[in-house]
Amino acid sequence: NEVATMMNVSTTEIISACMSLGIMVTMNQRLDAETLSIVADEFGYEVEFVTAEIEESIEEEVDAPEDLKPRAPIVTVMGHVDHGKTSLLDYVREENVIAGESGGITQHIGAYGVTLQDGQRITFLDTPGHEAFTAMRARGAQVTDIAIIVVAADDDIMPQTKEAISHAQAANVPIVFAINKIDKPTANPDKIKEGLAAMNLLVEDWGGKIQSHDISAKTGQGVKELLEKVLLEAELLELKANPDRLASGTVVEAFLDKGRGYVSTVLVQSGTMQIGDYVLAGTCSGKVKAMQDERGKDVKEVGPATPVSILGLDGAPQAGDRFNVLDDEREAKQIAAKRSQLQREQSVRTQRHITLDEIGRRIALGEFKELNIILKGDVDGSVEALTDSFQKLSTDEIQVNIIHKGVGAITESDVLLASASDAIIIGFNVRPMGNARSVADREEIDIRMYSIIYDAINDLKDAMEGMLSPEI
Ligand code: GDP
Repeated sequence: NEVATMMNVSTTEIISACMSLGIMVTMNQRLDAETLSIVADEFGYEVEFVTAEIEESIEEEVDAPEDLKPRAPIVTVMGHVDHGKTSLLDYVREENVIAGESGGITQHIGAYGVTLQDGQRITFLDTPGHEAFTAMRARGAQVTDIAIIVVAADDDIMPQTKEAISHAQAANVPIVFAINKIDKPTANPDKIKEGLAAMNLLVEDWGGKIQSHDISAKTGQGVKELLEKVLLEAELLELKANPDRLASGTVVEAFLDKGRGYVSTVLVQSGTMQIGDYVLAGTCSGKVKAMQDERGKDVKEVGPATPVSILGLDGAPQAGDRFNVLDDEREAKQIAAKRSQLQREQSVRTQRHITLDEIGRRIALGEFKELNIILKGDVDGSVEALTDSFQKLSTDEIQVNIIHKGVGAITESDVLLASASDAIIIGFNVRPMGNARSVADREEIDIRMYSIIYDAINDLKDAMEGMLSPEI
C-alpha cells in the first residue's frame, strides 16, 4: 500500500507485479529491500534506501594492522537454570581473583572487568543466560568473544545447556565448560564430560580440544584455573583493537535515574572514550558528562574491551544498540533524529527473515545457499528422524543446517536464535510457549507446526524446489 502511494499507482498493480515475480502479497505486507527495488523498477522508479545512507555517514574506517593492540576478551556466562551462572559471576566479582584492585565490585552496571594476578584482564557481561546473549545478537551486536557454559556436576546436561551450546555455536563463539558444584558429594564431573562427548564435544581430559575445568562457584575452587583457560582460549583468538581513534562499541544496558538522568552502560570495543565526547547511540545522542567504572569510580577515559557507565545521553538506548563517538555534536544529533524518524515511519524492520514460502524465490535468485532450521519435537525419536530426513534434503545448491534441536515446546529463546541466525522453526507435535508467538510475530519468524513427519518433510522439499503454494 505504501509503495503504491509513493509511486502513485494502484495497490492492485503492485500486487500483480509481485505475483508476476512469484511473490504472493497482501496490501499491508512489507516487502524486503530487494523485492522493493525490483518492483519499483517495473514502474520505472529507482529506490533509495535512507537507512543505508545514514549508516554510511558513520561508517567506520578499517584499522591498519600496526595500529591494533591486544585487548581483553569479553565473556558471557551461559547454562541451564540453577547450574550456577549467577554464583560464578558473583564469585568472580566479589572475590580476590582480582589482583591489586581495592575492594570488590559494588555496582551492577551490566558488565565488569577483572584483572588476574599476572595483570591480564577479562571483561564479563553481567547478564547470565543465552537469552541476553542472543537478544543482542539479534540486534546485530557481536560482543562476546568466549562463552563459559556452566554445567552442574550433580545434575545432567539439560535442555538449556544444549541451547546454550547451540547459541554459542551459531554465533561462532568458542566455548569453555565450567563443570560446577564439585564441592557437592553427589558431584560426578565425568558423567558430564561423557555426556558432552556423546554430543561430539570432546573436552581436554577426554582427548578433545574443548577447554573445561571443574569448579565450585560456592567455594571458589578451580575458578582461577577456569579463568586462566579462558585467557588461553583468548590468546588463540588474537583479540585486538585500535585504542587511538574515536570510540565505538555496544550498549549493554540503560535506564533513567531520578537524580542523574539517563545512565547508559556501554562497552567500548574500539578506540578510547573521553569525557566531553559526542556520542551517538541508537536513536539517542549527547555529550559525555561523566563516566564511572564498575567500582563506582569516576574515570576520564576508557579504552577497548572496557565497560563504563556514562551520563549525558538524551534518552535510553536499547541493549545491543551500537554507539559511535562523532567529531561533531550536530551530526550526532541529526543522525539520532533521522533514525528515530525512520523508526517511527517503519515500525516493522525492513530486513525480513526467511520463510518457507520465500525459499524457492531466493534460491531462484541464486543468493540463498543455506537453510537454517530450529527443530523442536515432543519426543527424541521424532526429532532424530526429522533431523536425518531434513539433512538428506540438502542439494548442491542449498545446504540444510539444523542449528538447534531439542525436545519441548518452542520457546522465546528458540525464536531469538532464529532471528539472530535467520532460521525457520519447525515444531513437531509441539507449540510455541509463553511469549514465543508474540516475539515470532514481532521478529517475523516463520514457525511451522506439524504432526505428521511425512508432511513436514514434503513441505520442506517442496519449498526447496520452489513449489510450495504460499500461505495467504
Ligand atoms: P543460575 O540459575 O545458573 O544463575 O544458578 P545460581 O547461581 O543461582 O545457583 C543456583 C543454586 O545453586 C544456588 O542455590 C547456589 O547457591 C547453588 N550453587 C551454585 N554454585 C554452587 C556450587 O559450586 N556448589 C554448591 N554446593 N552450590 C552451588
